[in-house]
Amino acid sequence: MTSQSPSAGVPAFDLVSWLQGLADFPPVVQAGAAVLRARAREVPAEVLGTEPFLKLIEIMVEVMRRAPGVGLAAPQIGIPWRLFVAEDQEERVAAMAEETREERGRVVLPLMAVVNPVLTPVSDEEAVFFEGCLSVRGYAALVARHAAVKLGGLDAYGRPLEVELEGWPARIVQHETDHLNGTLYVDRMLTRSLASEGELPRLGRLSVDEVIQELVSPPSLEP
Ligand code: ZN
Repeated sequence: MTSQSPSAGVPAFDLVSWLQGLADFPPVVQAGAAVLRARAREVPAEVLGTEPFLKLIEIMVEVMRRAPGVGLAAPQIGIPWRLFVAEDQEERVAAMAEETREERGRVVLPLMAVVNPVLTPVSDEEAVFFEGCLSVRGYAALVARHAAVKLGGLDAYGRPLEVELEGWPARIVQHETDHLNGTLYVDRMLTRSLASEGELPRLGRLSVDEVIQELVSPPSLEP
């Protein structure tokens, strides 16, 4: 596959100039920015494994950890490339109630950087949970995702990568790959489940079915 046809019209990105112009860690781009709605370009093969590219990944990891988040796609720092980083650290996973952890399939996801990712659902099974996005601050909503996916692509050095993921890691990589296609979780959410941060602790104590009953199809709306 080449970088031309699917992204025609998107200007080429000059990584070296971008790095030179960087005074501090870049902010996370918020919804409304065009870069979050465009299809990102494939990362050019010639940059893989180079010092500037490894530097870019280092910056993305730092921005993700500081946010803090469990994934960050390149367009979220304004870079129109098909690249994301993801990580769900031990201490975060361990801090969750065991029941929640098991229900969501939340397991440690070691740090990964994925170039030109390709996702294939492993089964028809879906999982519905709240998810949020660093580019849509202050909200979360229920989103149905494939319960398990095969993730293909390249690593930072251009070596082929293939891994099968389920549970929360499967959700993370679907969310991040969506970013590379100009899609935000709000495009996929159960719209009536949209919840502000302040409501999440309360909603988190309910089951997904209870949340759906309360917000998406409350009995009071039945004719
Ligand atoms: Zn996001």
